[in-house]
This record gives sequence, structure tokens and C-alpha cells, in this order.
Amino acid sequence: MIEKLAIIGVGLIGSSLALALREANAVNRVTGFGRNRSNLEKGVEIGVLDDFETSIAETVKDADVIVVAVPLGAMGQVFAELQPAVNERTVITDVGSAKGSVVEVADKILGPLMRRFVPGHPIAGTEKSGVEAGFASLYQNRRVILTPTEATDEDATEVIENMWKSCGAVIEYTTAQHHDKVLAATSHLPHMLAYALVHQLSNLNDHEEIFRYASGGFRDFTRIASSDPVMWRDVCIANGDVLVKLIEQYQQELNQITAAIKSEDADELLRLFGRAKSERDSLIGNC
Ligand code: NAP
Repeated sequence: MIEKLAIIGVGLIGSSLALALREANAVNRVTGFGRNRSNLEKGVEIGVLDDFETSIAETVKDADVIVVAVPLGAMGQVFAELQPAVNERTVITDVGSAKGSVVEVADKILGPLMRRFVPGHPIAGTEKSGVEAGFASLYQNRRVILTPTEATDEDATEVIENMWKSCGAVIEYTTAQHHDKVLAATSHLPHMLAYALVHQLSNLNDHEEIFRYASGGFRDFTRIASSDPVMWRDVCIANGDVLVKLIEQYQQELNQITAAIKSEDADELLRLFGRAKSERDSLIGNC
């Protein structure tokens, strides 16, 4: 049981965590902080929060666990504001979609509190934002990757592992660097492709007609382009080096397809598409 949970950034990820912990009877009190008062008031109204504060220092006072669930670019500012107010027993975690940049900034700011810091990333989400987007089942059977540092206390890691398990999540451990490499390929790159495709088509003169005729495939492929632009701006900046390499490789793939189309090379097209289909079918399943 977490006696007091402090959530800094009460949006999709933070509010879903609060709701899941409440449903599991794993938290007693949830206090929130954010910049927008009406979002926090809504959080109390819909049962995500018990209360909220107008400063980070007040929010984290006497908390057992602090969850930092703001966009990556705001993590440093939040760490700086919570650092003087945290007691030594409190466990701090985050949910950022890239981990190397969070560990780097935490290391500079948290100092001795790095012992109590357990970086994390739930591999779950939707394209929606804000407190009302949250739902209790978001983490059921979903992976949460924890990337404790060499400084992290074992008991702090255990607290965060148990917190996520209470939400129905499956825990995996890796390093921040490995996390960022893998997530760049499976999540960050696909978001870039979706944003680029929608951007490209919206620049066409007849784009309204194009979007009107959008089929299921187009909707599936581009759903994630409705994700929060601030969040994805920050992910790009945080994991830029790895992401740029993958985007360049992707451009080469497109060049290969373009060349095969231009030269009407049916065999090459069949080879490329056949290989992609069998890879996907065997690795992800035919769904
Ligand atoms: P969200 O719904 O937009 O929530 C973020 C919350 O942070 C907002 O409610 C915002 O509230 C608050 N916030 C923003 N800047 C702040 C600041 N400077 N100080 C204090 N609060 C601030 O976003 P989310 O989807 O929950 O994402 C939160 C984190 O989870 C991000 O780091 C993201 O990388 C990570 N994540 C997201 C997903 C996903 O699919 N969405 C999945 C896994 C991890 P105010 O505007 O009221 O301040």
C-alpha cells in the first residue's frame, strides 16, 4: 500500500496510474501537481486525485512515491523543484518515453537522491492527452521497462516494481541506453512516419478529399499522428542521435522501393514486400 502518491503532471499516463492503483486498492491518497488548475480540479472531480497543490514542494511533502509524468523537456525543471522538498525515504520515478536524457538530467540535479530514483517507462498509451484521457486498465498486461542506475537502491526499485505490478503490468529491466535504442525503432520512428505522412498529404491541394476517402489502413497507420506534439518534440530531441540514424535508414528503404517502381522491377518489389510480410508475420503475428 502506498500511503501518499504524488503525481507531477496529471495527464494520460499519470491519471491512468492513479486510477489503476485505486482499483487495486494499492494507494491511500493521491496528490497532484500541474500548471493548469482546471485540469487538476477535473482530476479531483472524476476521482483521479484526492487533492492538489499549487507548488511541487507542497505536493511531494511526505510522499512515499513521486511519479514525474510531464513531457521530457520539463523533467529537469520538475526535478529541481522537488529536490529540496523530498525526504530520504521517498521513492522517485518517472514515465518518460526516452530514458538516457532523463537519467542524465536527474544525475545533475538530484545528487544523493539518485539512490531513490528509479527511471521507468510504461509501454502503454493512446494518442489522447490530459486527465480525462486516463483509464484504469491502461497498464493491464502491458510492459513497464525499468532502468535503475548503478546508484539506485534495491528497495526503491522494489517499490516501483510492486507499484506497476499492482496495475497489472509486466516488468522488464534494461539499461537506459538499450531502452532508447529499442524504443527508437519500435515507437519513435513509427511516430515520425505517421507525422510525415499526414503532413505530406495535408500539403496537397485536394487534401480534404484525400482525407475524406481515408480507409481503415490509412486511419490505422496515422492514428498516432494525433499524439501530443509537445511530447513528441521532446522525444525527438531527447533521443535524436539514435532516431536520426533510423530515419536515414528508412529513407534508404524508400529509395529502394522508389527505384524498383521507376524501373518497373516487379521481382524486386515482390522480394521486398514478401520479405517484409514474412518478417512481420513471424515476429509479431498475423494481426
Ligand atoms: P499528457 O496527457 O499531456 O500529460 C502531461 C501532463 O504534464 C499534463 O497534464 C500537463 O498538465 C503536465 N505538465 C506539462 N508540463 C508541465 C510542467 N512544466 N510542470 C508540471 N506539469 C506539467 O501527457 P502523457 O501522455 O501523460 O505523457 C506524460 C509522460 O509520459 C511523457 O514524458 C511521455 O513521454 C510519457 N509517456 C507517454 C505515453 C503516451 O502514449 N502518451 C506512453 C508512455 C510514456 P498542465 O498543462 O496542467 O501542466
